Amino acid sequence: MNEQWCSGTAECFECDYEWIAVWPLGADALECPECGSDDTDRTRRKTVALPTKGGHTCSREPS
Ligand SMILES: [Zn+2]
Repeated sequence: MNEQWCSGTAECFECDYEWIAVWPLGADALECPECGSDDTDRTRRKTVALPTKGGHTCSREPS
């Protein structure tokens, strides 16, 4: 299973709240953490692929 996730900015049309969100690719509208409305929009910044189980994920950042 190689599920793709997106991260970016989401905003609520009800209360104008804006937050950083992460959601699975193709997910339904996000729920506003402020007012609970799902009348929201999101702007995808990037798509991230979660590491698959058993993979080597202990990589160090090259300095
Ligand atoms: Zn809201």
